[in-house]
Amino acid sequence: MVSEHHKLRFAIVGRPNVGKSTLFNRLVGKKLALVDDTPGVTRDRREGEGRLASLQFSVFDTAGFEDVVDDSMEGRMRRQTERAITDSDLVLFLFDARAGVTPLDLAFARLLRKSDVPVVLCANKAEGKEGQIGAAGAWEIGLGDAVLLSAEHGEGMLDLYETIVDRLEARGIDPFAHEDEGAEDDAGEAFDPDVEVIEDPLKPLRVAVVGRPNVGKSSLVNRILGEDRLITGPEAGLTRDSISVVWTWQGREIKLFDTAGLRKKARVETKLEKLSAGDTIRAVKFAEVVILLIDAVQGIERQDLVIADRVIYEGRALIVALNKWDAVEDHNKTLVDLKEKLEIHLPQVRGLPVVTLSARTGRGVDKLMPAVLTAYAKWNRRVPTAKLNRWLAEATERHPAPAVGGRRLRPRYMTQVKARPPTFALFMNRPGELPESYIRYLVNGLRDVFDMEGSPVRVMLRKNE
Ligand code: GDP
Ligand code: GDP
Repeated sequence: MVSEHHKLRFAIVGRPNVGKSTLFNRLVGKKLALVDDTPGVTRDRREGEGRLASLQFSVFDTAGFEDVVDDSMEGRMRRQTERAITDSDLVLFLFDARAGVTPLDLAFARLLRKSDVPVVLCANKAEGKEGQIGAAGAWEIGLGDAVLLSAEHGEGMLDLYETIVDRLEARGIDPFAHEDEGAEDDAGEAFDPDVEVIEDPLKPLRVAVVGRPNVGKSSLVNRILGEDRLITGPEAGLTRDSISVVWTWQGREIKLFDTAGLRKKARVETKLEKLSAGDTIRAVKFAEVVILLIDAVQGIERQDLVIADRVIYEGRALIVALNKWDAVEDHNKTLVDLKEKLEIHLPQVRGLPVVTLSARTGRGVDKLMPAVLTAYAKWNRRVPTAKLNRWLAEATERHPAPAVGGRRLRPRYMTQVKARPPTFALFMNRPGELPESYIRYLVNGLRDVFDMEGSPVRVMLRKNE
């Protein structure tokens, strides 16, 4: 076993063709490194810096061990496994969920069970029904429940992360003890297997305008796309498919959910004037950033809040646009009233950005896209673990978690498991007993301190004694 202050090292073990190299590549991402080319002993043994959500480690793939000539499968396997056991803090043991458990898998398992290295059993290729059925055979291996993975499609990575953290902690190893702040900040930009690449210039940012009927959605979409390119068909610079229009705003491609197009179609086909609830949900699911359009003359109504709730529930970035500002008499009062209502009814997204505009005159529409991009950036926010835990220590000291049944609840540490929306895992004793009000206290603190106003922020509670 490796010393405590050594950076964590994980080995990937399993018979040929179960997906070891694929998993290695996914964990290491772009930072692939080829090392250790000692002739006769190992060939192309690959080791790299891996990252799984906020967990950092080095990982090696033992596939190269298989290529030594003149050796029996049994011998190669034994050496591979021994090497993994002595050289790593934890072993990721893969089997192929599609092929099911084979005698060779069982032979590996026997070797691993005899050692005392922590093992995480992974049923790879578990995507789809077939894979899930195959994964159920894991009990035969006798190494506990398997994590269902699809290394190829990047599924199951959050479960893998959580299982690794559990397994290490069960051995008294702090999974996050090896981080230093500088490295963590760098790593924030590194490949993260659990999250899409954030600033992918090839991928347009997806935006939808939603709202009650008659608030001005079609007018706004037409205004955004340019009055002279009314929704009559593809024009220069616009591409259109059945549900979206792509246009470029300051060099950034934006894909806009085509509310107007849908509506036009509905008119033609069924004379329906209103978008159905189904269309709203479709738009929300489509989008990364949702613009909730509200009629400023009428003010906020229940239905606006229902839509906003849905956006938050789906975890999208939300901004509010107050339309028909040209027809509002007392601008100041209207804005104050409205913001107050939002704070009362949507406390989950405190600090929601509000833009006032008129789709009819075009006034204020230029403020919309900057607000969209800001909301998008907050929604993508990643907080380094070290900073997060310094903040947590302060927050829990200033306002300690209550005692329940005579024993104090202790939030111990926190890590960001994903972005889009920012999602955190809080490790503590007795997570089921933490009051809702305390969770809210933490969520609000996180949002204020780490500049995520207006974004849904999620905290998942995890047990850790
Ligand atoms: P290794 O020999 O264990 O390193 O296995 P590889 O990583 O080379 O993968 C063996 C084959 O399985 C390749 O064709 C991969 O594309 C495929 N594979 C790997 N992971 C998955 C997965 O999650 N699902 C499916 N369906 N195929 C996978
Ligand atoms: P949708 O049902 O949400 O798509 O709403 P429309 O875009 O069809 O607009 C509904 C009505 O509101 C139309 O009569 C528009 O002319 C009017 N409208 C839209 N935007 C504005 C605005 O900024 N100011 C005013 N005064 N009226 C507007």
